[in-house]
Amino acid sequence: NRCSSFVRENLLTLLTVIGVVAGTILGCCLRASGQEWSRRDVMYFQYPGELFLRMLKSLIVPLLVSSIVSAIGSLDLSLSGKVGLRAIIYYMTTTICAVMLGIALVTTIKPGKDSEDYTQPNSTKIVVKDTLTSDTLLDLIRNVFPENLAQATIATYRTRLVYDKNDTNSRLGELETYQITGEYQSGSNVLGLVCFSIVLGITLGKMGEKSRPLQDFFHALSEAMMIITGWVIWLSPLGVFFLVTAKIMEIDSFKELVGRLGLYFMTVLLGLFLHGFGTLSILFILATKKLPCRYIAKMGQVMATAFGTASSSATMPITIGCCDDMGLDPRITRFVIPIGATINMDGTALYEAVAAIFIAQLRKVEMSFGKIIAVSVTATAASIGAAGIPQAGLVTMVMVLDTVNLPAEDVSIILAVDWLLDRFRTTINVVCDALGAIIVTSLSQGDIEKTRAVNNDRDGAPS
Ligand code: ASP
Repeated sequence: NRCSSFVRENLLTLLTVIGVVAGTILGCCLRASGQEWSRRDVMYFQYPGELFLRMLKSLIVPLLVSSIVSAIGSLDLSLSGKVGLRAIIYYMTTTICAVMLGIALVTTIKPGKDSEDYTQPNSTKIVVKDTLTSDTLLDLIRNVFPENLAQATIATYRTRLVYDKNDTNSRLGELETYQITGEYQSGSNVLGLVCFSIVLGITLGKMGEKSRPLQDFFHALSEAMMIITGWVIWLSPLGVFFLVTAKIMEIDSFKELVGRLGLYFMTVLLGLFLHGFGTLSILFILATKKLPCRYIAKMGQVMATAFGTASSSATMPITIGCCDDMGLDPRITRFVIPIGATINMDGTALYEAVAAIFIAQLRKVEMSFGKIIAVSVTATAASIGAAGIPQAGLVTMVMVLDTVNLPAEDVSIILAVDWLLDRFRTTINVVCDALGAIIVTSLSQGDIEKTRAVNNDRDGAPS
């Protein structure tokens, strides 16, 4: 009957959503048990989830490079130009809409207004050494031009944001080294790899038949990565279950979710919801003349994985798989999804704008029109520069804070709730990428058919 066939068709998605819910319940029960969980206990709990994440992460670099190169190579060059342009226009439009929505909400709700002199509720303190907006922007542009491709797969330029070494509670383990702007930090330079892959794809397209062996190689590599993704994806219910359980065990407390920080949390959440189900849906209807509900329902697996892993890069293989399942043209999805996962982060942009203005309200910094414009611009740049990894947005926040003359250390204020917000904003980031792939495909349909007809005429085949 219909119910059992629905369950059969969506088994994996259902199991992954159950994984998230069960992980949340178990995590809360373990906290409620009154037992003190050491970092070691949490690490053991997280371990199966960590393995799942490592498997997904291992696919990112080969999948990203091979997909972009083979997709551009297999599209007509003028067509890939048009597809690329449409994707960029979509990314910019949605990101700007997200920032404006965030600003409208935070200035209306005013979650940080009328607070007494604000004191840090959380013991964790972030220490940031004289980093300016310009440093972060320069790092962003540095990353676009990787000087060494092998190094770009393991290291990236990142503005320094460091934890107080004396604080044993610091949560962003990866960021514990003291970082000097213009130096490398571990984590792939995905932006650089994307840019290099685009240039390589265009070059192979221009070389024509001579580049065939290389194009075949990248095409086969991309297909192989997707087959492996198909296997790894079956581990997602268990993976997200352990990741979510461990995260809830690890957090200090839930008490920050009430009060000022709670109001800030709800403002971002409301913004993400309105953006995902309002702005994006309207754009979708305008561009495709279809309702988005059916497509969003098919993204359950992608959303649950994004929520569980808090990483759009790690979710990227699954996002591409989901687009394949929806029957989208693989040459377009393999081109726009990896780029979207790297630069298109609407959820992050919205959050950066809300967080910066929230902190300004707490600190009683007057927000002039000029400052609001500066926040919009830097929040957009910060979302482009943020890596698709957990809490990367917190790092690029420094740039937004600097534009309103707030000390970078103030990111500590929002740290307590950031682990949870990160999951919601990552979910919106990937939904926006997947909807973008559908929109760009639909807008490019006419051009694809025209190119096909021209090619067929050229080959003498009937069009
Ligand atoms: N975790 C987010 C992502 O991967 C980035 C961020 O906002 O921190 O998309």
